[in-house]
Amino acid sequence: MREKADAVVIGGGIIGMAAAFYLARAQYGKIVLLERDSLTGTGSTSKAAGGIRAQFSNRVNIKMSMLSEKLFCQFKEDTGQEALFDQVGYMFLLSRPEDVESFYLSVELQRSLGLKVDILKADDIARLAPHVRLDDIHSATFCADDGLADPHEFLSGYEKAARNLGVEIELETEVTGLTRTGDRITEVITNRGNIACGMVVNATGAFGSQIGQMIGVDLPVQPIRRQCVTTGELDFVRPDFPMVVDVASGLYFHKESKGLLLGWADPDVKPSTDISIDPDYTDNILERALDRIPQLETAEVANQWAGLYEVTPDHRAIIGYEPKVEGLFHVLGFSGHGLMQAPAAGLICSQILTDQKPEIDISDLSPARFSKGKIQKETNVI
Ligand SMILES: Cc1cc2nc3c(=O)[nH]c(=O)nc-3n(C[C@H](O)[C@H](O)[C@H](O)COP(=O)(O)OP(=O)(O)OC[C@H]3O[C@@H](n4cnc5c(N)ncnc54)[C@H](O)[C@@H]3O)c2cc1C
Repeated sequence: MREKADAVVIGGGIIGMAAAFYLARAQYGKIVLLERDSLTGTGSTSKAAGGIRAQFSNRVNIKMSMLSEKLFCQFKEDTGQEALFDQVGYMFLLSRPEDVESFYLSVELQRSLGLKVDILKADDIARLAPHVRLDDIHSATFCADDGLADPHEFLSGYEKAARNLGVEIELETEVTGLTRTGDRITEVITNRGNIACGMVVNATGAFGSQIGQMIGVDLPVQPIRRQCVTTGELDFVRPDFPMVVDVASGLYFHKESKGLLLGWADPDVKPSTDISIDPDYTDNILERALDRIPQLETAEVANQWAGLYEVTPDHRAIIGYEPKVEGLFHVLGFSGHGLMQAPAAGLICSQILTDQKPEIDISDLSPARFSKGKIQKETNVI
């Protein structure tokens, strides 16, 4: 492993890989990406359900995702690699009056930022998502430009493109410490030797706070277990079946290999890095799914898994220079939206590190916001 680099990116998930690619494209210099596992993308990235949306309640999240959707669409042009952003749309089913009120307010904000969002009534919902029980549904918000993406396709696309631009990827390389010289991080310490560097990019997802602890900084990112289930083939799932979120129950589902992928964010899960499958969690997902799609009565479970969300106190990412020490840049804590915001996060990280004006103003995502009490919660979280 080389002993010196201009930038060391810690973390070989979708965020670290996107950051490494855009940094290399901006000719940042010698870039080394370190991943402690024997493969890239085995952390949260491999567990992602694949939903891509810009329908958020918070301005910066809407803008981050709109930029990402643009970059997903031009992925081949930018990276030379094939990966499909399947724009089947993303729908939020609204039944409770308080949800109707808050989602309609978000639609106003989303439209003011240029996002094309429709409000659908029962007939349109049924046409797009057949066999979904709608007797208690008031309406839905729907953005046809949102959709689905396979995390592996985009991760490996970024990885190949980054390698083609000279990024060195070191596997089975765990960062165990950071050397501080005066006010600056000057070196990354790993199980395979040390690398002197001018900049460290912390893209360690749900484990990000451990990097903070190495230099006595409290990074508020908590790992929270989330589970998904997939069904066998279902005859009513057409290729244009969208991503659907039942806001009242928290259930979400979308087409997956001719069946459905079902997921739910259990609000009672306590922070931990445990990713074993909890059968009660699975039952909870299936109960909610049967209630919303009675046709699933005869469906079979094809697969299930658990992974970690990387949750911040306001459910927004942390992107920016570490305020307490120089030479460290954080890009993590996407709170369950990291796949959909990876292209924007990677591009903006490269723009800031190369002293360009970032494409969108992300000062709201700065790591300093927590100590300044500048927290504006993202409320549209699943
Ligand atoms: C069940 C589930 C469903 C989800 N669905 C969606 C979805 O539909 N849409 C969406 O946008 N997002 C979704 N997410 C969230 C998404 O998966 C994450 O936001 C995203 O993958 C975060 O990427 P990352 O690169 O930051 O983290 P990771 O993929 O976890 O990558 C971080 C990497 O850092 C490495 N690492 C950590 N510490 C060290 C160290 N000390 N030294 C070296 N390497 C280290 C880890 O091994 C890991 O590979 C979902 C997540 C889960 C769990």
